[in-house]
Amino acid sequence: MNRIIFLGTGGARVLVSKQYLASGGLWIEQAGVRLHVDPGPGALVQAAKRKLDATKLDAVILSHKHLDHSADVNVMIEAMTTGGFNRHGLVLAPRDAYEGDPVILRYLREYVTECLVIEEGFSHQIGEVRVTAPVRHDHPGEVFGLLFESPGCRWSYIADTRYFPALAEHYRADLVVMNVVLLEKRDIYHLSAPDARRLIEEMRPKKAVLTHFGMTMWKAKPHTIAARLSRETGVEVIAAQDGMVVELPGEEKER
Ligand SMILES: [Zn+2]
Repeated sequence: MNRIIFLGTGGARVLVSKQYLASGGLWIEQAGVRLHVDPGPGALVQAAKRKLDATKLDAVILSHKHLDHSADVNVMIEAMTTGGFNRHGLVLAPRDAYEGDPVILRYLREYVTECLVIEEGFSHQIGEVRVTAPVRHDHPGEVFGLLFESPGCRWSYIADTRYFPALAEHYRADLVVMNVVLLEKRDIYHLSAPDARRLIEEMRPKKAVLTHFGMTMWKAKPHTIAARLSRETGVEVIAAQDGMVVELPGEEKER
């Protein structure tokens, strides 16, 4: 089955520090490829708890280097490669995750086949899956969302960003996963529930999944917000829960 497993749905510093919600990122199984996106604190523990075998990963991917997205990146690289004994797999991350004050340890970079730098317009084929970073986000540091395309399946992940109009055009897809940290619009570099509504109305996906909740969203109960957005937009909107599995869109004819 082509699916996303939510190894965490918590986001931003305060909530992740409290671990009210887990912060292990997205585990993706698509067209025979296994990817782990944004392995925040506890990612390996969350994967192991759900019997997901990290040694079978094909790539570990960071949208950006902030700790709630990257804390376990080294742990996952080591797990993917069985401590370097089975050299394979890719690491995809923005340049500032490798340079300056890097979050990806240099000695681990030898364990993988290749470390690739995500820049605006980046696109790379991993098996049957094309991974594209269409646009740089409005968020501190180098930050990118991702499109994942395989035959008959296209979905997008809108990582941390402030709302800007071009987002909708870049991430339009049948399934859209978006990081919605804030309940109300505030002048910080994150999407809010009203931003999510606007994006959903602009993109009109078949399904939108909200995740990466900060304290205000968590207190407001994300499933309540998702239900409201569904009513308001007429699009199926769900709030991710820790451990939730979402099936990826596929070619209905072949099913
Ligand atoms: Zn961030």
